Amino acid sequence: MRPLQMVDTKTQYLHIKEEIDKAIGEVVESAAYINGPAVGKFAEQLAAYLSVKHVIPCANGTDALQIALMALDLQPGDEVITPSFTYIATTEVIALLRLKPVFVEVDPFHFCMDPAALERAITPRTKAIVPVHLYGQAAPLKEILDIASRYGIAVIEDNAQAIGCDYIFDEGHRKKTGTLGAIGCTSFYPSKNLGAFGDGGALFTDDDTLASRIRMIANHGQSKRYYHDVVGCNSRLDTLQAAILSVKLSHLDQYNEARRQAADFYDRAFADCASLITPFRAAYGTHVFHQYTLRVTNGQRDALAAFLAARQIPSMIYYPVPGHRQKMFDSFLTTTADLPITDLLTEQVISLPIHTELDEEQLTFIANGVKDFFNA
Ligand SMILES: *Cc1c(COP(=O)(O)O)cnc(C)c1O
Repeated sequence: MRPLQMVDTKTQYLHIKEEIDKAIGEVVESAAYINGPAVGKFAEQLAAYLSVKHVIPCANGTDALQIALMALDLQPGDEVITPSFTYIATTEVIALLRLKPVFVEVDPFHFCMDPAALERAITPRTKAIVPVHLYGQAAPLKEILDIASRYGIAVIEDNAQAIGCDYIFDEGHRKKTGTLGAIGCTSFYPSKNLGAFGDGGALFTDDDTLASRIRMIANHGQSKRYYHDVVGCNSRLDTLQAAILSVKLSHLDQYNEARRQAADFYDRAFADCASLITPFRAAYGTHVFHQYTLRVTNGQRDALAAFLAARQIPSMIYYPVPGHRQKMFDSFLTTTADLPITDLLTEQVISLPIHTELDEEQLTFIANGVKDFFNA
């Protein structure tokens, strides 16, 4: 059996080696390392894939979130509502910009922002809402966007874990997550569903004014060369990464389908485990399984992880400390937020290997490991 890994980017590469090597070779030959033609080409391809007007590439997903907030032109102390149960990047950039992160509860089943908790947290100082499509599952965007528009607050989607996911409206029509709010942000970190061979990120928007602000901010606030109108940053996607991403984008739907099939296998295997809650699949979204995350409800999560590790089965806790308990935010929060569901999930969740290259033998071995733990 091939060794088990949380992600197997090497095997994935070997399947498309010729295409990738050719794309890399072309960039190296062209010597257009910064803002070469491959960057614009990839942005156009991704915009077409997402059906969004503007895709603005940048250096990584964290920058994308930071630039999105900068584009909204907020004032120090303005409040930004976000889940605590997310990767630190979502919330860190809020504090970095001297805005106030307001952590709200997630839903215990879909793991994303709870719209009722969102509405309760809104104050006159709330200026942005940042839902996260965690683990590849769409957040309940219709409810979130309805609340946001009622209060006139901008929504920035953190789509770093859900590229390719469809949000399905009641009437059945679909839109890609990341394209429903004012701005969507994504990451091309190598382990993401659309991963580069290094760092990368992008912002999406249908709004022309926001798009030009975002482009300006990502490029030193420059309106024309050496004329800097606003304080910005330097955040570019490498030409090499763009060329690699163009190749991988053409495989994205197939990659997401492979993840879904691995998830289906796990779901079937764990259907009878009384102490496990398998991932919820919202009817309003096509889960793209950036992670396959179980809830262990009998208090044995850490023992399960140790049992799996002894069999060389990797697993991860995403994330062991929620935002509202990170020291980083001590000076931003007067009291620790009361988020019992987030705290509970932090103690219960465990993610199993999920990626595009898992074969039946590997899936069986992992599933049996989990089942043996509960049957022992
Ligand atoms: C990966 C990730 C980011 C940050 O992306 P980087 O490219 O690593 O900066 C932000 N939010 C979420 C939810 C992520 O998973």
